[in-house]
Amino acid sequence: MKDRCSMVRRREKKTKIICTIGPATLNLKTIRRMYEAGMDAIRINTAHGDFNQYKEIINITREVGEIPVIMDIKGPEIRTRIKSSREARVGDVIVAGIGDEELNFSYNLYDEVDLGDKILVDNGAVGLKVVKKEKGKLYLQVFYGGIIENNKGVNIPHKRINAPSLSQKDLEVIEFSKENDAEFIALSFTRDANDLKNLSTKIGTGEQAVIAKIENYDGVKNIAEIIEESDAIMVARGDLGVEIDYEKVPVIQKDIIRRCNQLGKVVITATQMLESMVNNPTPTRAEASDVANAILDGSDAVMLSGETSIGKYPVECVEMMTKIAREAERMVASKIEMNGYINISQTVSKSINLIANSMPIDKIVTITRSGYTARMIARFRLKQPIIAVTDNEMVKRQLEIIYGVEPVHIKYREARDIIYNTAQILKEKKLIEDKDNVLFTAGIRTGQPHESNLIEIHKIADLLGVSLSK
Ligand code: PEP
Repeated sequence: MKDRCSMVRRREKKTKIICTIGPATLNLKTIRRMYEAGMDAIRINTAHGDFNQYKEIINITREVGEIPVIMDIKGPEIRTRIKSSREARVGDVIVAGIGDEELNFSYNLYDEVDLGDKILVDNGAVGLKVVKKEKGKLYLQVFYGGIIENNKGVNIPHKRINAPSLSQKDLEVIEFSKENDAEFIALSFTRDANDLKNLSTKIGTGEQAVIAKIENYDGVKNIAEIIEESDAIMVARGDLGVEIDYEKVPVIQKDIIRRCNQLGKVVITATQMLESMVNNPTPTRAEASDVANAILDGSDAVMLSGETSIGKYPVECVEMMTKIAREAERMVASKIEMNGYINISQTVSKSINLIANSMPIDKIVTITRSGYTARMIARFRLKQPIIAVTDNEMVKRQLEIIYGVEPVHIKYREARDIIYNTAQILKEKKLIEDKDNVLFTAGIRTGQPHESNLIEIHKIADLLGVSLSK
């Protein structure tokens, strides 16, 4: 594994960038250039491609740098199944089913939809209305005309569809993720905590962290229990805009981000962030503002989809996001409110926020087993970098998607004086310097999770006994 410039690159921005890899980017040269431009994680959308391709993407990613892989499984997503593309003209009535009709769906909608319901295909590009139901067949009248292609997403706005939360392919992807040490599994169309519990059962002893994708009415309605049950949340605006209505997406985005920041859960804003760059080398002003606003709202990470999977300018997209992020970060401020007692780490993180804002601190070092304390500190959006030290390589890579966090894996040579030890190793790695004032936090003499119970502040030269030359 090469990680030549990761530390230099990470210091340049705090916002993390996730890139979907697809036909436009599936080669070593492009993925390396995207990494060097500021990519912090890759996403594999398993609605497309096969296991050989997924394996190739993971191999290339591992060669390029120590960044995490997100396997995006499709959950209760429904897609079109047709032999060849067909035109749908306004007024046409199309017979649909799951067998050999003019239009077939990956899931049988017959008992789930009622007369008058709308079925939208390909992000709403084609609009169909249920006008008749007979003998297992749906008769759908076209109200937005267009071309219907195979494997396009299907949305039934404002409706709970009882499709199983995991398909056969999803189960295979979960096994593949475990075998290939993918760091995250993202569950599309998460409807409630039960969907996530079901996924966790299938992950079993695997170390994969779970990202809940919020993209339908149920996901929004049950957001509190979903945040509680997941490791991270993705505001998946593509399907959300179709399932719920465009005008509601910005407010839902802000609400979800605020809730996640408050609880220290990682939150990703996704889809159409630089959409026009699929075909153009520069974004619209509105897209640049959208990226900046998502960061100002409190996103840990912003995601590129079509821009990097099928777009003409994937590297330019990452460069552009990096530039926008750096500017926006100058104005990022924490909006979280902390009242009452939750646990020791949360209280310690609150104190770290106070200290870091009231004296000259250059860096914060958190020695963390699960990454919990790093998340708790990061939610305060401090100006100082947070160096999150862990002895678990998987956790180290999972921490890469948190705002302002620079994860480091350390295999300790000795357990004695962990602060001194960590300082020595971080100095060797050139992550801290003699002149730095560093705040250290760790859980000492506690076997419990979520117990960072110590804060020490040191000038590194004094801690390590080195005299500073003037
Ligand atoms: C979305 O709908 O915004 C999304 C991220 O999901 P996908 O790209 O998997 O359709």
